[in-house]
Amino acid sequence: MTAARLVASVSFDLDNLWCYLKAYGDPDWERRPSYLDAVIPAMIDLFGSRGIRSTVFVVGADAVRDDGARAVAAIAKAGHEVGNHSYEHEPWLHHYTREQLDDELAATERALEAAGAPRPRGFRAPGYSLPPLLIDALAHRGYRYDASTLPTWIGPILRAYYFRGARLTPGQRATRGEMFGGLIDGCRPIRPFTWRGRYGGGPVLEIPVTTFPLLRIPIHASYILRLHQASPRLAKAYFRAAVRACQAVRLGPSILLHPTDLLDHRAAPGMEFFPTMAVPSAQKRALVGWMLDHLAARFDVVGTGEHTRRLTDL
Ligand SMILES: [Zn+2]
Repeated sequence: MTAARLVASVSFDLDNLWCYLKAYGDPDWERRPSYLDAVIPAMIDLFGSRGIRSTVFVVGADAVRDDGARAVAAIAKAGHEVGNHSYEHEPWLHHYTREQLDDELAATERALEAAGAPRPRGFRAPGYSLPPLLIDALAHRGYRYDASTLPTWIGPILRAYYFRGARLTPGQRATRGEMFGGLIDGCRPIRPFTWRGRYGGGPVLEIPVTTFPLLRIPIHASYILRLHQASPRLAKAYFRAAVRACQAVRLGPSILLHPTDLLDHRAAPGMEFFPTMAVPSAQKRALVGWMLDHLAARFDVVGTGEHTRRLTDL
């Protein structure tokens, strides 16, 4: 008897150009520069050509703009789930009050619904920061799942690497102090688990962004791309090994993609600081496509909302 195929999920964080500039402390973010018109067709083609229905986490402040609303409508029309990725994309939600978190969630829900998407049932925090108050708010607002945790111990290294060239004030550095998590995040569960809020509401399933089992090192597309710059063979061998490790422990991985995995510097002026922006977009799309094909040959690949449904409606 052969074992049933496991379910894996793929999600896409629709971080806009201004989100990166904002995190990096570049005041030009306030003009809200956007590359959504370039990334949406590429993303829809990437998934559509493979028959994959993913989940796209959208930022509320984008959904209220013309290009963002067009993006939400196109994503929903192509059959992908639209999730909540906060309103202002601030990776320091641990500094927010309960009321501020509620406002952030509610404003994004309104923006997504006004753009033609169903009310979101899933959330991902910017920068992998998930304070307990946010879990309470998600449960209370009827969210079925959260996908914000990244169980890795290398968060502090990622943070130092990401901000190595940034001109941040000490205050700005302090607010970004929990981006990518701390050493303790390496102890978080790698498998989906249930949260309960303190103020009522149903259980919220956590779908962690999968890291390499046991090693707890990231395996999502941006890391594979970074490795690919050093050695294409090594990058593919690493991803194959990670997938094999997931299969060995019967874990259906949740793989995360970003616009920077598809676009190069020509579509993102001002983002030259970001690793891999010099890699031509055709090369990026070929590698990410290979990753998806590799997954789809071994798992049923769905979005995070469907992943939640399959794990909870047993
Ligand atoms: Zn984001």
